Formats: sequence, structure tokens, C-alpha cells
Amino acid sequence: MTMSVWDELSQRITDLDTLSSIGGLLGWDQQVMMPSGSAGGRAQQREFIGRLYHEQATSTRLGELIEAVAALPHPTLEQQAAVRNLRRTYRRATCVPPKLASRMAQANASGVAAWVEAKKERQFRLFAESLQTNVDLARERAQAIDSSRHPYNVLLEDYDPGTTVEDLRRMFGALQEGLAEIRQQALARKGPSPFTEYCDPAKQLALHHDVMRAVGYDTTRGVLNESEHPFSCRVGSQDVRIATHVHAQDLLSGLAATMHELGHALYEQGLPEGQGGSAVYSATSTGMHESQSRLWENMIGRSRGFYQWLQPVFAQHFPDQAFDPENVYRSSNRITSGSIRIFAEEVSYNLHIILRFEIEVALLERRITVEEVPGEWARLSEQFLGVRPKDDAEGVLQDAHWAGGAFGYFPSYTLGNLYAASIFAQLRECYPDLDRHLEKGNFSIILNFLRERIHRQGHLFETPELLEKSVGHRDHVHDLLDYLRERYTTV
Ligand SMILES: [Zn+2]
Repeated sequence: MTMSVWDELSQRITDLDTLSSIGGLLGWDQQVMMPSGSAGGRAQQREFIGRLYHEQATSTRLGELIEAVAALPHPTLEQQAAVRNLRRTYRRATCVPPKLASRMAQANASGVAAWVEAKKERQFRLFAESLQTNVDLARERAQAIDSSRHPYNVLLEDYDPGTTVEDLRRMFGALQEGLAEIRQQALARKGPSPFTEYCDPAKQLALHHDVMRAVGYDTTRGVLNESEHPFSCRVGSQDVRIATHVHAQDLLSGLAATMHELGHALYEQGLPEGQGGSAVYSATSTGMHESQSRLWENMIGRSRGFYQWLQPVFAQHFPDQAFDPENVYRSSNRITSGSIRIFAEEVSYNLHIILRFEIEVALLERRITVEEVPGEWARLSEQFLGVRPKDDAEGVLQDAHWAGGAFGYFPSYTLGNLYAASIFAQLRECYPDLDRHLEKGNFSIILNFLRERIHRQGHLFETPELLEKSVGHRDHVHDLLDYLRERYTTV
């Protein structure tokens, strides 16, 4: 009996998924468990799996199968989605000449090395040449994939297919004005002091375990570990692991990290398995993934109701320590000032992203030169955040993204916040007494809502269409500003 083209395509995608999860397992082990002496061997293993993956993902037969399924007389919804998604990824993998791919790999590696050195010396000029090379290569790659489109739109598809530079300009423009206003109002009010009680790290981890179970994380298909940088990672079918980082003197930031990664992991655990594998049943975009993490981290995890529920859980682990939910709520929703993105709260955070978006688009459009970047950074930082970075390390050198050649990645963070705000607004419309549910720890209504409307849909639809189907036609900018206004100007 011969296999149908759809069966054969599905089998190949399943094989690719298997390779990718093996890669995930190697990466997870490397960051969580691996002794330092194994680094060389591990690099070899990862390189080998990566090579196998690349060979299979660019094979001629895979291209033939995609087109054969596209030509089926009555394709199902799954088959149509698989063709749309795979044509894009296959084209991106095969259109870049091998010479360009290897030049990029080299430039990104030496870019990261130069960035580390430049950041240490706090001197942008030590990184300028690498940045120029990375920008040039990114343009070249975009050209190779599709020379008829704006290079930024081509690069954006690595992360957020379905969104364009025009969409971002429109949304970010409106957002920036509203954010600046909220920031001003919030800064004018006297903020509460931060929550800096000493909390034993081992007990904090035990608390995180309780929170994860209460929220609905399937611990038979995942674990929580510690690592230097928090992350989550799929290592097998629905086995999605979380690593967090706790700070003895800063309970809330460790908890936020766990809630963030939990949101990512719940999305991955909720993706169904079906024919077509990840060609159909994977996250729709980086922005959508980020919406899940930010919804749990911020909208839920920093809400009044959540802290009220948390109080007795906290008391079990820290019987001698004070935890006033209202105070904790206020301290975890305070406006920050400063020039570092990763320390920014939700309002300023988006301004940091808009700043980076403006600069990377200008670089790719060649409206500014690499030499002009630090000046432009300082100018926008002053305009958006009211602060000029002290030096290059606190300004243009603070993030590693451009060093590794990732252009078009930054917007995903704010897209995630925008989508999360609309999902949250819709959730509150369905459950007007949402805060009461949170107080009682009734998180299942939220998880079920997300499972049904987002997770189980996989990548059948592109993000904008999926959002329209799941939360209706909503104005994301309006929803985000509404949410932030309520949270930051009334605390
Ligand atoms: Zn994230």
C-alpha cells in the first residue's frame, strides 16, 4: 500500500519535531544539569542534531510534498494551514545561499563576542563594525528571501508572520502617546516601597511549585528547575520544562519569572497533537507566545485577586513573615525610572521596545548609519523615558539581540502585551467577577478559556485572524492602555 502525500508529509514533520525536541533536551540539560567539563561534547551533539534538522528541513522531497498537498482537490483546513506555514518556512530555509548562511553564522558568533567585549569596556565603537556587518547581512538575507518586499517585513516573519512594519508603526505610534501620559500621571503619585523582605530561596521554590500546580501546569509532563536565566523549553511531546531564578531579597521578581515561563509552558502543553505535527499544531507566532507569558505574569500574577489568594499559600511557607496583599499589589505595580529594559515595569517596558523598533527599522532602511545609533538611542530615551543613558553599556549595548543578528525580534514583546491585553479584556467580559475567581484560586476558568480559544487552535490561522476569532474584533492599543491606566494610575 502506498502512503498518501499527506501521510508522508506528516511523517516528515513528525521526524523534524522529534529532532527539534532532542535539540531542546540537549539545551535544557546544558543550562540546568550539565557539568562544565561536558561543554565540548555537548556542542558536538547539538551541531550534529542541527545539521540533521537542516538537511531534512531543506530536502527536495519535502518541497515536493508541500506542493503535492497544495494540489489536492479538496484540502482540509489542516492541510491548507500546513501548506501556508510550510511554504514559508521551507522557502526561508532554502532561499538563502549556503555561502550567505555560513557568513551569517560567523558574523553572529563574532558579533556576540564583540558585543561582550564592548559592553565590558562600555564602548559602542568596539561593536560598531560587527553591527554594520549584521545589518548588511540581514538586508542581504531579506533580499534573498523576497526582494520585492520591505526588508523589515521579511525579517519580521521569522517571529511574527501576519504582521507588517505598517501595522507596527500604526499601533506603536498610538501606543507611545498613551504610555507617555500614563507614565507621567503614575510618576506624579507617591509610590509604595518595594517588597524586599528576606525569603529563603528553597522555600520560595516550594511556593512556586504550589503556584504552578494551582494554575494548572501538568507536572507529569514538565518540571521546575533553577538556572541562571529563566527559560522554558519543549523537550518532547507536551513535556515542557521550566527553569527559574529566585532572589533571596526579591520574592516578587522570582515569582514573576516563574509565572512568565509558566505562561509559555501552558501554551506548549495545551497544543494538540494531530496530523501535520508542528506544521499545524504549534504556536502561531513569537508575539502570541509572549501574550501567554505576559498574561499570566502581569495581568493575572500582579493582580489584587491573585495576591489575596497567595496570602495563605505564602503563610504556609513563611509563617513568620508579613504579607499584606494590598501592599504587595502596590509594590509590584510601581512605575520605574531608568534606562534598562529588563528592569522596567509594564508601562515603560513598551517604550523601550518602541525605541528599539524605531532604530532597527531606520538601520534597515538605511535612514541612519551605525555611527549615529548611540546618539539616536540617547535622543529617543530622553524623549520616551525622560532619561539619557549614563554610557553605552546602559544604552545601546544593554541587549544581545542585534549582536546575534536578530532584527525584528523586539516588537514581539510589545505585540505580546497588546494581544494579552485584548485577551484579558475579553476574559473579563466573559467573567465580570474575575477578581473574585482569582481570590479563590479558580484559575481553571482562565486556563480553559485559553485552551479552547488559543492553545487548541495551534497554527491553523495566522495570529491576527486567530485573535479575531478568539476575542472578537478588538483594538489592542485601546485595550492595553485601558488596562495599564487602571493598574498604574489607581494604585
Ligand atoms: Zn517570554
